[in-house]
Amino acid sequence: MKPLAFEYKRVEFTTQALEWLQEAGENARILAGGQSLVILLNMRLAQPTYLLDISHCQELNYIRQDKNMLCIGASTTQAQLQYWSDLSVVSPLLAEAIPFISHYQIRNRGTVVGSIAHADPSAELPLCLATLGGQVVLHSRKGSRELHAADFQQGMLTTAKKNNEMVTEVRFPVAKEGHGYAFDEFALRRGDFAIVACAVEAGPEYICLGVGGVADKPVVVQWPRSQQALFSQYLNDLAWALQAQDDQHASAAYRRHLVRVLGQKTIETAISRCSRKEG
Ligand SMILES: Cc1cc2nc3c(=O)[nH]c(=O)nc-3n(C[C@H](O)[C@H](O)[C@H](O)COP(=O)(O)OP(=O)(O)OC[C@H]3O[C@@H](n4cnc5c(N)ncnc54)[C@H](O)[C@@H]3O)c2cc1C
Repeated sequence: MKPLAFEYKRVEFTTQALEWLQEAGENARILAGGQSLVILLNMRLAQPTYLLDISHCQELNYIRQDKNMLCIGASTTQAQLQYWSDLSVVSPLLAEAIPFISHYQIRNRGTVVGSIAHADPSAELPLCLATLGGQVVLHSRKGSRELHAADFQQGMLTTAKKNNEMVTEVRFPVAKEGHGYAFDEFALRRGDFAIVACAVEAGPEYICLGVGGVADKPVVVQWPRSQQALFSQYLNDLAWALQAQDDQHASAAYRRHLVRVLGQKTIETAISRCSRKEG
């Protein structure tokens, strides 16, 4: 199928994009890497009158560390982040997760922010953002606001973004000293969307586990390290609480099995990567 006709606008500055969004409202859609949106257009699941291409917006193309946050601008591609030389130190979780995103052709065009704005429940980047407790920065012509990841993604392909807003930046908390991080997923073929994905941050006092691919958005739980002996029971309870559904890729029972097995394995890996400061 081909998309319905639309008017294409390429913007070079954020202010231009915000002007357009204010005028066009619900008739406009932002085009970043196009790796999810173009499919929706071709299937006519999205039928915008205006497409606002921000991929050439240089002022939104950046990766920078600001104190304890890794800040990524809206036109930065997934490949740029993957090959950023400091990534494995600043965010070992992202360094491990990004290679799971499809194939390099997709990562060369797809943006970090586009993936988070698209809000697919199986996607790796929204899962990492939610697990680490990151933030999303939204701008409109009238002002800006910052939302926690948990408040931004509201369900499958649904976010708190308003029609006149664009996401200008996402912020991932940088790795904390002594904490261990791990990401793993199961997909039918390498590069496919995850059937179940797990992201873990293990600190000295607690572990944070994020699970993607089961509920309609990433689900994050925090458990005390002192209760490690009970984690397999907690994982079983979580597997049932996520209310997995059967679909063409996997049964609900298999998804529950993956939450238990992959969850346990990813937690153990993250804990094994925790380092203690020498006294
Ligand atoms: C074959 C294939 C396999 C894939 N496999 C995976 C996978 O395994 N894991 C995975 O996570 N993803 C996968 N993807 C999706 C890919 O990661 C996309 O790049 C990503 O989901 C969207 O990023 P984008 O920059 O391409 O956004 P676009 O497709 O341009 O936009 C996606 C949505 O986000 C909105 N949007 C984009 N930028 C902004 C912004 N700054 N502010 C507000 N709204 C915005 C758009 O309006 C649109 O609704 C796959 C894609 C393909 C084609």
